[in-house]
Amino acid sequence: MNKKLFVISGSSGVGKGTVIKKFLEKNPSFMLSISCTTRTPRPGETDGVNYFFLSKDEFQNCIDNDKFLEWAEFAGNFYGTKQKYIKQCLAEGKDIILEIDTQGALQVKKRMPEAVLIFICPPSFEELEHRLRGRNTEDETTIQKRLDAVKIELERAEQFDYKVINDNLERAVSELEQIITGEQKKC
Ligand code: ADP
Ligand code: 5GP
Repeated sequence: MNKKLFVISGSSGVGKGTVIKKFLEKNPSFMLSISCTTRTPRPGETDGVNYFFLSKDEFQNCIDNDKFLEWAEFAGNFYGTKQKYIKQCLAEGKDIILEIDTQGALQVKKRMPEAVLIFICPPSFEELEHRLRGRNTEDETTIQKRLDAVKIELERAEQFDYKVINDNLERAVSELEQIITGEQKKC
């Protein structure tokens, strides 16, 4: 069976990480790609596990040497997916999930049209803000930058293959599973 690349995006705080974690617990054969970022690690985050934390110079060097499948600046930091890592995983027949922002997702679709783009929507803007603030991981300036990005993210979501509303966590995970299973059957 051919393996597909599943790209999951959504505004900061919508619950992408939470939905994906639950999905991976139930579907351990999937691999979650580890991105590179110039963002400072949050308490509890580990280099090589949550992200590869790079300096701006290291990140720029990867851009200059065409190492990224996609990369983007999001809310003041840079994020990117290493090309070699994804190609290697696909060649080894692994099912991969990328959790990346909407700019990066659309770049992936251009380079790999067979990739499946899934956008996680909040039940409302108010609930999104509540979740982002409730997570307590960003300062006020960063929260504002992330909320400012929501409008354009929702516009880009129109180019995605699927949208899943993360209202109830279990329901959202189950919808994601149905989408992914359905796409795998098409292979
Ligand atoms: P993202 O990865 O999209 O930035 P997170 O997964 O970190 O978002 O979730 C942001 C916050 O929202 C977390 O505190 C998480 O526990 C909470 N959350 C996630 N999904 C739900 C849900 N369905 N209902 C209520 N809270 C949720
Ligand atoms: P956070 O700082 O909250 O971990 O991530 C902020 C945003 O960057 C999220 O929308 C997340 O999906 C996105 N992101 C994480 N890794 C990548 C990546 O490799 N490429 C792109 N384009 N976005 C990423």
